[in-house]
Amino acid sequence: MDFQLEEPDDMSHTLTVQWTIEPQTAPRPLLACSRCGGHRPFLCSDKTRLNANGCRLDAWLIYRCAVCEDTWNRPIFERRNVANVDPDALAALQGNDPAWIRQVAFDIEGLRQYTDRIEDFADCHVERRVLSGTTDCARLEILLVATGASSLRVDRLLSTELAVSRARLTRFEADGLLTLLPEARKGLQRPIRHGSRIVLDLAAEDDRAEIAERARGAS
Ligand SMILES: [Zn+2]
Repeated sequence: MDFQLEEPDDMSHTLTVQWTIEPQTAPRPLLACSRCGGHRPFLCSDKTRLNANGCRLDAWLIYRCAVCEDTWNRPIFERRNVANVDPDALAALQGNDPAWIRQVAFDIEGLRQYTDRIEDFADCHVERRVLSGTTDCARLEILLVATGASSLRVDRLLSTELAVSRARLTRFEADGLLTLLPEARKGLQRPIRHGSRIVLDLAAEDDRAEIAERARGAS
C-alpha cells in the first residue's frame, strides 16, 4: 500500500477563522419624554453619573431624548452601600472607562426592565483573525465572538461579509453544505450568538478561494 496516495489530513483543507463582532450602535430605549411629549428614542451619551450620599452610592448611565435632548438616567445601581459595590465597577465609573460603559450601554437585556420598546441596530464591525489553514481550502470554519448583544442575523452577517447571496446560503444549508453549531431551528435567521461555529463545505464551489479570502480578510 502506498501511503503517499492517501488523502491528506482533512484539517489541512480547512481554513479556520475567528470573527469578532463589534456592534456599532447601542440599543435605544423608547421612553415617554416628559419634556417634548410622546415616546422618543433615547440615545446613550456614553457618560455616567455617580452620586454619594453618606456611604450609599447611586450610579447612572445618561441617555438623551433624540428630539429635545432631555435626559434619562438609566440606573446602574441605586442606594448601594459602597462596601457592596464591585471595586472594578467603582473604578470604571470614577474613571469613565469607555470599555466598561460600552458594556452597560449594549446590555439590551438590562434595558428591558425599563421598556419593551427598544430600537436595536444590526450595524457592526467584524475583526477577522486566521486561526489555522490557508485560503486554498475545501472547508471554511468561522468561529463567532460576539462582544455585545446584536440583532444581526447570521445569514445577513455571512451574506455581507462573504459577499454570498442569502439565497445561495439557504441553498448551501438545504444541501447540507452549511452547518451552524450549536444547531437551532432556523438558526440562520436568528441573531448571531457568541460561541457559534459556522462550517461551510466549499469543495464544489468554483469561487471557494474568493469566499475564503473574504472570510480571512486582508492580511
Ligand atoms: Zn424629548
